[in-house]
Amino acid sequence: MRIRSGGHDFEGTSYKSEFLFIILDRNLRSISVDIEGNSAWVESGATIGELHYSIAEKSCAHAFPTRNYPGVGAGGHFSGGGVGNLIKKYGLAADNVIDAIMFNVNGRILDWESMGTDIFWAIRGGGGASFGGIAHKLSADLLIFITVSSGNGTPTKAMFQSLFLGKADQLLKVMEKSFPEMRLRKEDCFEMSWIESVPHFSKYQRGETIEALKNRIQPVPNYPFKSKSD
Ligand SMILES: Cc1cc2nc3c(=O)[nH]c(=O)nc-3n(C[C@H](O)[C@H](O)[C@H](O)COP(=O)(O)OP(=O)(O)OC[C@H]3O[C@@H](n4cnc5c(N)ncnc54)[C@H](O)[C@@H]3O)c2cc1C
Repeated sequence: MRIRSGGHDFEGTSYKSEFLFIILDRNLRSISVDIEGNSAWVESGATIGELHYSIAEKSCAHAFPTRNYPGVGAGGHFSGGGVGNLIKKYGLAADNVIDAIMFNVNGRILDWESMGTDIFWAIRGGGGASFGGIAHKLSADLLIFITVSSGNGTPTKAMFQSLFLGKADQLLKVMEKSFPEMRLRKEDCFEMSWIESVPHFSKYQRGETIEALKNRIQPVPNYPFKSKSD
């Protein structure tokens, strides 16, 4: 049996096998958000875009730390760790999983208490690989992505993009102190709410509404893109 949530596993482990197999496919996808209790139940076939959208329907001040690719499934993302834009302040998606319902090979339904601490630990990160590193000297409110591209004889280019949890004026002060050589100006910054930043980072056009988070098909990057993960 193969289990598929969002279907974004780079090696296709959720939908390939050398033997005849069945797929348990993303049909469990409901989400219930409890703002008062600061928690939510998310079925593993829901996408992280649907999760962000469901939280935003109830509150624009709450978030869950995941990456901002809306079509990626909660099942694979949380069980592989889940490195995202809020990592420095709030950790991985998996760090914020406080309970889980799973079935084992014998068909028993288990929660965090009955599965035991070793399994509960393993299902929160044991499935994935590491995606990045953290610079300690920077503010926990500032996350920086640097994407380097090269090839086919074209000059190497680096793209700098950052997320700052605060106002543009505060960011300018942090950048002036830590990276004066970037010469960041206020015109380079976009101020928006957290939830507006989610579609912005997932390569949707600027100005896209949060409705885009419900789209289960990934937007195509506007630059040549190829990746391989082993
Ligand atoms: C464009 C893109 C960008 C990405 N960026 C990031 C990033 O910034 N940070 C990051 O951390 N990751 C990132 N990833 C990786 C992504 O988080 C993983 O590939 C993740 O495993 C995908 O989850 P999925 O549910 O969509 O995939 P699936 O292919 O459905 O599942 C992935 C694996 O988990 C297993 N699985 C899925 N659901 C369950 C379940 N309910 N129970 C048990 N096993 C299950 C599958 O069998 C498979 O082996 C990115 C992926 C893509 C495609």
